[in-house]
Amino acid sequence: MRGFRRLGMKLTKRGTKLGISVTMLAAWAVVAAAQDVAAGQEVVHAASRTEAGITSAAITENADAAAAAPAVPGSFDEVVDRMVEREHLLLAQMRNLRPLVETYVQDLKADADGNPVPVHDQYFLGRLDLSEGPEDVSFLSQSGGRGPLGKLSDLFSLRFQPKGFAQMVVLDTDLYKKNYTFTYVRREFLGEVRCIVMDAQPIADAPPGRFEGRIWVEDQGYNIVRFNGTYSGHPSNGFYLHFDSWRLNLHPGMWLPAYVYSEESDLDSGSGHFHVKAQTRLWGYDLKAAVKSRNEEFTQIVVDSQIKDQSGATADPSPVAAERMWEKQAEDNVVERLQNVGLLAPAGDVDAVLEAVVNNLVISNNLALQSDVHCRVLITAPLESFTIGHTIVVSRGLLDVLPDEAALAMVLAHELSHIVLGHQFDAKLAFNDRMFFPDEQSFRRLDFKRRPADEDAADAKALELLKNSPYKEKLATAGLFLRALQQRAPDLPNLIRPHLGNSFAVGTNTRMEALLSSAPQLDAQRIDQIAALPLGGRIKLDPWSDQVELAKAQPVTLALSREKMPFEITPFFPFLTRLANDRGEKLVSAGSGSK
Ligand SMILES: [Zn+2]
Repeated sequence: MRGFRRLGMKLTKRGTKLGISVTMLAAWAVVAAAQDVAAGQEVVHAASRTEAGITSAAITENADAAAAAPAVPGSFDEVVDRMVEREHLLLAQMRNLRPLVETYVQDLKADADGNPVPVHDQYFLGRLDLSEGPEDVSFLSQSGGRGPLGKLSDLFSLRFQPKGFAQMVVLDTDLYKKNYTFTYVRREFLGEVRCIVMDAQPIADAPPGRFEGRIWVEDQGYNIVRFNGTYSGHPSNGFYLHFDSWRLNLHPGMWLPAYVYSEESDLDSGSGHFHVKAQTRLWGYDLKAAVKSRNEEFTQIVVDSQIKDQSGATADPSPVAAERMWEKQAEDNVVERLQNVGLLAPAGDVDAVLEAVVNNLVISNNLALQSDVHCRVLITAPLESFTIGHTIVVSRGLLDVLPDEAALAMVLAHELSHIVLGHQFDAKLAFNDRMFFPDEQSFRRLDFKRRPADEDAADAKALELLKNSPYKEKLATAGLFLRALQQRAPDLPNLIRPHLGNSFAVGTNTRMEALLSSAPQLDAQRIDQIAALPLGGRIKLDPWSDQVELAKAQPVTLALSREKMPFEITPFFPFLTRLANDRGEKLVSAGSGSK
């Protein structure tokens, strides 16, 4: 953890440098300085990957097996043999891994123009446990999602068990040649990885629940990297969805499940037709590494006799200083815990971008803060932001959908205001025993909700900060974003309901309401009016290390108004890259889909 903190300090310094004169980040999607940092970070990345803290025998064996790959298969039949063998090895490996799995489902209905819009949603977050078949341990209490749509929720939970989504990360636990007919289709590149494409069909008398569809097998280790189709037959209490399941090369020789997109456009449930879309993401494969690097650092400290107390303190702190240190201790405990659980991304270049925006607000308002403000990314999809002491946390989902830097500044200004106004942070977590709880209870045990009075005060202060900032002329899009949020909030309670902080929208009210008056009316038909983006467009997550970075995808010119898709789910098309093995010279950050 301290290793991460050291990196964080380096980044902050850069952020401060950036903000000496107020720097607008143009389109905040790409920032030169942040790229600079990213280059340095690649090294950290590489080190943590090759030393990865996996001790399981099966996995080590596998990495060795990949290094000394047997001869190239001479026929399609041999390719199938190798693929089946690799898939069983993957299953064995997955039994030792406990990644987080998040599924977000939207139920769509056609609007007046015939375009599908989301009318209800569902959210699952848990830890995948394949030790006895696909199961997961939920982070969320099961009572959520009730209310006026309770009946629909019941339908959803009946048909879309998290277990059903967990199943789609593995092709078939009984993938054997005797159960299937495999047909060669062609060779094809997915990203820079050449694949052998084949179709799989269960044989006539195979038991139900067999995979039916297309499989992409990379042509070096013969691992399945993508499969697209459904399962045959019907489970007892529902039906199988169609899905497109992707794996990334996250560890030498290992292609691990990362994304699953599901869609069903005409689902006859007996009580009407459904149109659903769902995104499943997995991450947190290497959480043990955080603990390992901490242990390594301890060893280094013992060896290094030059180590000195950096604080410069020569006496006991004053009572006020002690109080501040106490709060800092609670803040550090919580941040570290959230990261170790896999909910918070390690410090990185996205934080530096957010900190540069915070800095713009601090400098243009001449704010004197008792200590630096840090920013971190919560990896989950629901739109939320909150503060832990002097750390501002913004969720991946919220960063994804914010239309521009001014809208981001609005979110950060609100959180910064809590810090400026000195709103109370419950420091009870400075007692370390209070951090001893099972990971699944994180949402229940950690709570950063504010009193309504504090929320109102922060809104007022944030407006003041924004009016003095370089964002003051650009707040129309921020207001527009709030309008879009207000419009969708009743239909998407699970996306807009926060798990740790305060809600962005309460009923028909939103945070920072004053900005609404200056915003233009929402116009769904106007292609050039972007109030909010689809989910998944901005933040790229490495499912192995949990590091996040800004996506480098080229912006696409929209052709149709229905392509705006605010807050909506879209399919995954990761650019696949190979991770160099242990002997390799170049290490590609495969998890982020960039190169
Ligand atoms: Zn607040």
